[in-house]
Amino acid sequence: MNGGKKRFDVVVVGSGNAGLCAALAAREAGASVLLLEKAPEEWRGGNSFFTGGALRFAFRGLEDIKTLIPDLSDEEVSSIQIEPYDEDQFYSDMLRITDYLTEPDLCLTMIRRSLPTMQWLRSKGVRWTLAFGRQAFRVNEKFRFWGGLVVEAVGAGPGLVGALFDRAVKDGVEIRYASKATRLLADGDGKIAGVEVRGPASSYQVETGSAVLAAGGFEANAEWRCRYLGPDWELAKVRGTLYNTGDGIRMALEIGAQPFGHWSSCHAVAWDLNAPPHGDRRIGDLFQKHSYPLGIVVNIKGERFLDEGADFRNYTYAEYGRRIISQPHRAAFQIFDSKVISLLREEYRIREVTKAEASTIEELAKKLEIDVEGLARTVREFNAAVQPGAFNPAILDGKRTEGVLPPKSNWALPIDTPPYVGYGVTTGITFTFGGLRITPRAEVLDTEGRSIPGLYAAGENVGGLFYYNYPGGSGLMAGAVFGRISGAEAAAYVSAQRNR
Ligand SMILES: Cc1cc2nc3c(=O)[nH]c(=O)nc-3n(C[C@H](O)[C@H](O)[C@H](O)COP(=O)(O)OP(=O)(O)OC[C@H]3O[C@@H](n4cnc5c(N)ncnc54)[C@H](O)[C@@H]3O)c2cc1C
Repeated sequence: MNGGKKRFDVVVVGSGNAGLCAALAAREAGASVLLLEKAPEEWRGGNSFFTGGALRFAFRGLEDIKTLIPDLSDEEVSSIQIEPYDEDQFYSDMLRITDYLTEPDLCLTMIRRSLPTMQWLRSKGVRWTLAFGRQAFRVNEKFRFWGGLVVEAVGAGPGLVGALFDRAVKDGVEIRYASKATRLLADGDGKIAGVEVRGPASSYQVETGSAVLAAGGFEANAEWRCRYLGPDWELAKVRGTLYNTGDGIRMALEIGAQPFGHWSSCHAVAWDLNAPPHGDRRIGDLFQKHSYPLGIVVNIKGERFLDEGADFRNYTYAEYGRRIISQPHRAAFQIFDSKVISLLREEYRIREVTKAEASTIEELAKKLEIDVEGLARTVREFNAAVQPGAFNPAILDGKRTEGVLPPKSNWALPIDTPPYVGYGVTTGITFTFGGLRITPRAEVLDTEGRSIPGLYAAGENVGGLFYYNYPGGSGLMAGAVFGRISGAEAAAYVSAQRNR
């Protein structure tokens, strides 16, 4: 038996962003909290650790941003241009990106609570900064932010979860590593009564009045990927932690919870062709290759297969990884010329990159081991299709192609200025969209639509927010909003039970 305490008001399963927010909110409400983490301590923080730490939230202007970054200097303020991103814009992006399927109550809760939750995270020790490197282009001496995403955590994902762990320890949350929740225990009335744990030394049960499931999606479970996402998905590379295998979802379904959301879909991106099978905490998210709107993307036959400029990167990248898995050998190649090389994101400059450079397109194709005539033909036809207009990467500039399929709808520059560079990518899965059905108060519903007393869920355990696609920065935001709500609600539920 484990020698630790055996009873807690709230047990939180999973120590990513959502679980940490749940634990902090439950402590804030006066509950005793146990945070269970399946991974060993050196892998704590789940996928949240791997992120760039960028969160999407609604704001009315610089005044709101200043509540998060009060030390913005006048000089900084005069060097930036940030358009407001209000609740209506956030909602219309969510609707458009999810093919109008996002569950409105959950989605609006996330949006309306987004700025207050950012402020709450700051009060818990997270420090915010402007996302200059990833979300702004310099235009006419000003950094112009684009795509509704302007703020990231200082220190990115590691900075975000590091601050939350520090606070959790300070606030008296008990954290147990290498401790996997294996089963939820309910009493005769179906109320949560405990959690079964496989600890480092043995298995044991913890008594609790309430459990918050924040154990991530099933992206690291090859068999579930194949079962729900379809053929070849077992071959995808996993961008983050290897510990997110669907445990939270499975445990809840076993006691009658309702599956919800887009089970056959996921967030997946262009990821380095030779990246390891799952995330490397030293490299973090830098195997991603997100500058494709500045060039063209071809398969091994040298053929284009998507509109690289359909929208800002934030609104296409999560879907485009999925398109790569159906290409021959699950491979794609991003091709740029020297005109845009200086605009490529930082991740193109890491040492661990699958890259070739050449002074002709034919030589580049040979080095990348892709069809030489195919690539030469594609580039020839693409260049001939580029329409006149001013190129501006900070706006949807409408500089497009005409007469090639698929089109490139924005930022279409001819590929004609050597040296040419090419980057090999494959599909990297980020997280899955299917999960549990919750109410806006984060209560898990059963298959009959009733809440399971004492059971809450947050983060990627939740289904119903994202369908087909995803606007960048919403995963951490949804996790923080529903993490905070679930912790507060779980604590309130236990307190109400006690006072009955
Ligand atoms: C490379 C990368 C970059 C990303 N960048 C961004 C970004 O910039 N902005 C953004 O919004 N989103 C980003 N995301 C998505 C983001 O990571 C997720 O939306 C978010 O982190 C999910 O948080 P979570 O708390 O639900 O899950 P996680 O952070 O994955 O935490 C789940 C935790 O549960 C633990 N666990 C699993 N099973 C059990 C069990 N049985 N018992 C106990 N513990 C268990 C896991 O070990 C893990 O620690 C990125 C993801 C990746 C992989």
